[in-house]
Amino acid sequence: MSAIDLASRPHRRFNPLTREWVLVSPQRTERPWQGQVENIAPEAQVRFDPNCYLCPGSVRAGGVRNPAYPTTFVFDNDFAALKPEVPAQEVREGELLVARSETGRCRVVCYSPRHDLTMARMSVSELRAVVDTWIQEFAELGNQPRVQSVQIFENRGEMMGCSNPHPHGQIWANEILPNELAKELESFGDYQQRHATSLLGDYLALELEKQERLVCGNGHFVALVPYWAVWPFETLLLSRRRVVSLEALNDEERTALADILRQITIRYDNLFQTSFPYTMGFHQRPTDGREHPEFHLHAHFYPPLLRSATVKKFMVGYEMLAMPQRDITPEAAAARLRSVPATHYLELIS
Ligand code: ZN
Repeated sequence: MSAIDLASRPHRRFNPLTREWVLVSPQRTERPWQGQVENIAPEAQVRFDPNCYLCPGSVRAGGVRNPAYPTTFVFDNDFAALKPEVPAQEVREGELLVARSETGRCRVVCYSPRHDLTMARMSVSELRAVVDTWIQEFAELGNQPRVQSVQIFENRGEMMGCSNPHPHGQIWANEILPNELAKELESFGDYQQRHATSLLGDYLALELEKQERLVCGNGHFVALVPYWAVWPFETLLLSRRRVVSLEALNDEERTALADILRQITIRYDNLFQTSFPYTMGFHQRPTDGREHPEFHLHAHFYPPLLRSATVKKFMVGYEMLAMPQRDITPEAAAARLRSVPATHYLELIS
């Protein structure tokens, strides 16, 4: 088989982390859009919103009052999807009706007391406090005997189902390996066995050589649009040194992580000059008591916006029934993200 012209011909690409394929149709980028147009909520304007349940001093559901916290603040989700004490039970009727009880914890992490900030508008030292909080929570939750995985994530923007603009994320810790982590763990293990190296370490080396999908970076982290990206401006954040968790990062690397989070979210906001919606989160080793040297810490950013601040990508039809599909190539998306200023547009205006 001869090489495909990836910039113009329909093709599919392989995701070595999940071992799934994505269909890429670069020729479709010119099709007219007559579908739904989204409204993006403007950025929060006030430093303190008395109606926000995440602001310092606010009373939350159940009558608990938030402290006057100065940096980050963590609490158990008042409407947690998982509870710490659930008796171990099982349903098994043949092989078709199977269910198991599940225990865990759901935490909420406020990044800042300020209601009007986002990661893109926080300083490196403010974001470093968030990184430290994540690490502390990962250690604490991961050390609980029944917790096998700790998922740190953030939903940003109404488009992603997050109605509160106060900068915050979530941490869900549970008893089993969730589907996505289980897939990745298997791929990491398999690759390690065949090559004795890190899947993402080798991938990063390739990307650093090719340069075409890189977005931004620093001495310890690189953000790039992965070869197999599904979402239009999806990015993958990789540590240059192979570490298995946030906890394994040294002091300098923790600050570098804060810096790259700021860099990538600024570029996202600058792309359409809006508060860019996304779901982001870290993948770290399971907390099952084993070391998992095959793992490589990384974060995924999955933003839904497609061609402007008002047109988002839908995962429907063929994507629900067959496989994900994208129009703009990962290379073109990376070029767009590289071309926007490294300074936040609101700072450039003022
Ligand atoms: Zn991952």
